[in-house]
Amino acid sequence: MSDTIDYSALKEELFYNPQHACKVLSADDVAAADAYCEGYKKFLDAAKTEREAVNEAVAAAQANGFVPYEFGKKYAPGSKVYYNNRGKSIILAVIGTESLAKGVRIAAAHIDSPRLDLKPNPLYEDNDIALLKTHYYGGIKKYQWTAMPLALHGVIIRKDGTSVNVCIGEEDNEPKLVISDLLPHLAQEQSKRTLSDGIRGEELNIIIGSRPLADCSESEAVKLHILKLLNEKYGVTEADFLSAELEAVPAFKACDIGLDRGLIGSYGHDDRVCAYPALTAVFTVENPAYTVLSVLTDKEETGSDGNTGLNSSYMADFITDLAESQGVSGRLCMMNSQCLSADVNAAFDPTFSDVLERRNAAYLNKGIVITKYTGARGKSGTSDASAEFMGSVRRLLDKHGVVWQIGELGKVDLGGGGTVAKYVAAHNIDVIDAGVPVLSMHAPFEVVSKIDVYMAHRAFEVFFND
Ligand code: MN
Ligand code: MN
Repeated sequence: MSDTIDYSALKEELFYNPQHACKVLSADDVAAADAYCEGYKKFLDAAKTEREAVNEAVAAAQANGFVPYEFGKKYAPGSKVYYNNRGKSIILAVIGTESLAKGVRIAAAHIDSPRLDLKPNPLYEDNDIALLKTHYYGGIKKYQWTAMPLALHGVIIRKDGTSVNVCIGEEDNEPKLVISDLLPHLAQEQSKRTLSDGIRGEELNIIIGSRPLADCSESEAVKLHILKLLNEKYGVTEADFLSAELEAVPAFKACDIGLDRGLIGSYGHDDRVCAYPALTAVFTVENPAYTVLSVLTDKEETGSDGNTGLNSSYMADFITDLAESQGVSGRLCMMNSQCLSADVNAAFDPTFSDVLERRNAAYLNKGIVITKYTGARGKSGTSDASAEFMGSVRRLLDKHGVVWQIGELGKVDLGGGGTVAKYVAAHNIDVIDAGVPVLSMHAPFEVVSKIDVYMAHRAFEVFFND
């Protein structure tokens, strides 16, 4: 043995030591990430709901030469198609030169985010204030949704069957809505509640008006005033709320965070921060070997149930139809398919570091995070990707210089969560979670790193094109 062994080099060779992306990437790469995220911020502001995200995706798809998919039709290699599932989820596909028997490559992200849905009969007046009852959607900390400006988005189907899109509170000069909270002076009793009970579901009532209709001596003149304004703007009556999907979301826009502008703060990063890269990546694909699918799905935040969520058969039906157009069974196609389940993971938070296990946590600015398994209490509910599939994804990302890291959602026994991965795996498809680390996940204002967003785009791009 020599005593001149370079142990520093040996350590570098033998240790796994993920780096801050700025130490790995060139200045040009970082500038490319910043430029890419200007488009992402516009998408965040334009697509705060699943319906708006589908509308944005359709417009972008058409601009990139995609046409509506026709079931039962055979498409030539290179064809670009999209399947709009009820306006709330969408699949974009580029047909490959290889047979569908060899499977497809899927990036699947979700476009629904935690929010406050209006109840079917929401509007009431109490002491000259008009309010809207809500039923929250997804896992929220309810106390975070009070005392900040809200906007209302959605669709109303009128009595005669016509539909009208609603968007209130997004323009700078437009009025916003708000949920009140109790002043600290009178909150002694409220302060004794647990944090999860600090604001209760039935206390998430949105203020929508306060002035009675002029010269009106009827009761509930404030509510009547609001209904008159809604009727003038949207041609609706109170009964039309019964056939509506109206979603209250934060009224603020995406912005840079930090003096170095390395981060983006916004509502709805989970999971637009993966949906947007999955969308931009499919637009880089021309004449791929394997058919590629970018799936932007709904209902992930409430468990993927419902016919626009991935616990329905809509994606498998689409793949089956593609395969059968080539005389291939859907089952054969799916068993040879691969999927990146594109969803966020928790970013290491120095302020709340004790819930994460440092050696297996995801960090801001260390690139896209690959999550081999999710689940809780002994991996319950996970699809747990195989070492072989993890190995192939690892080689792919390394080959193309995509900065990536591994991440587990929190300490064992402390929590956990799920993604669409298990619903994809249920179709006998190889699947692994890959996404962007997020600070304050599910808060009205979440934070991500621009470089990580760009690395998600790069990862899906190489996955589709390799
Ligand atoms: Mn998610
Ligand atoms: Mn989520």
